[in-house]
Amino acid sequence: MIHTTDTIHQLTVPTPFGVGDVHMYVLKGETLTLVDAGIKTEEAWKVFVHGLQELGYTPEDVEQVMLTHHHPDHIGLLDRFSNLKGIYGHEDNRRWLERDEAFLNRYHSFFYDLYSKFGVSEEYKSFFKHLRDPLKYVPFGTLTGSLVEGDGLPGHEDWEVLETPGHAESHLSFYRKQDGKMISGDHLLYHISSNPLLEPPRKPGGERPKPLLSYRQTMEKCLHYPISEVLPGHGPIFTGVHDIIHTRFEKQEQRAEKVYDMLVDKPLSPFEVCQKLFPKHIKKEFGLTMSETVGQLDYLEATHRVHVELQNGVVYYQAI
Ligand SMILES: [Zn+2]
Repeated sequence: MIHTTDTIHQLTVPTPFGVGDVHMYVLKGETLTLVDAGIKTEEAWKVFVHGLQELGYTPEDVEQVMLTHHHPDHIGLLDRFSNLKGIYGHEDNRRWLERDEAFLNRYHSFFYDLYSKFGVSEEYKSFFKHLRDPLKYVPFGTLTGSLVEGDGLPGHEDWEVLETPGHAESHLSFYRKQDGKMISGDHLLYHISSNPLLEPPRKPGGERPKPLLSYRQTMEKCLHYPISEVLPGHGPIFTGVHDIIHTRFEKQEQRAEKVYDMLVDKPLSPFEVCQKLFPKHIKKEFGLTMSETVGQLDYLEATHRVHVELQNGVVYYQAI
């Protein structure tokens, strides 16, 4: 029998994003490991260093970082650790960490083409100017090693890797069988549902991922694990995760019904649906609201509730 010797500490740093504070976790076992790396601001760094000092460590003591996913508020301080021996995560983090010009161009043109196909009006195309803005909170880096489903975390073999795509294609969660604890990144949060975000396909020209469908599958998978406690990327640590998953399913299906009702009278483009679904938030949170809308449309399509038709290069959905 393996005894659990690791200790886990949560450190919390502020972000300039709407989501608020983000958590990082310090794992102390054979090696000193950080799960996630906050955001690239001086304020976050100061708060982090202070928190680490209270645990009796300095940034030079950190030996490796495990990433739950590639978003700016989870990888931001990666380049601040001088004695780092390894950065581990899903292989998909690599393209976001290395970010060569070819990838950035592909990222830009993917969204340009996609939003044209979704019927986005000219007025909203200014969104493209801001597509790269979040990247100022992200350092350049690379992955030392990639993790896949079932791997043990290097140096902390009692933590098992679960692939949990949905919120991000690169998303992993870490589960410890001995006590049922799960470090969930942004996959499972207590106070809000995770946004399944649109992303370019991994292979150039490949089919776009359908994040809400992946997210549902991943939540389904989590129902098979006796998770005792979730250590999330944002908000409180929580128990009762299976109930929360069922509530998430219910809420999502209710929203899909709302979208379905909009498509009964006449076919609508994803952009038109988004305007109806999020009249107050679409302008400020364009990327998020479009991702959420397209997620519901993907779900309705996968459950054979809608017809999908292309007219003049724009895709339209109609209730069956
Ligand atoms: Zn995230």
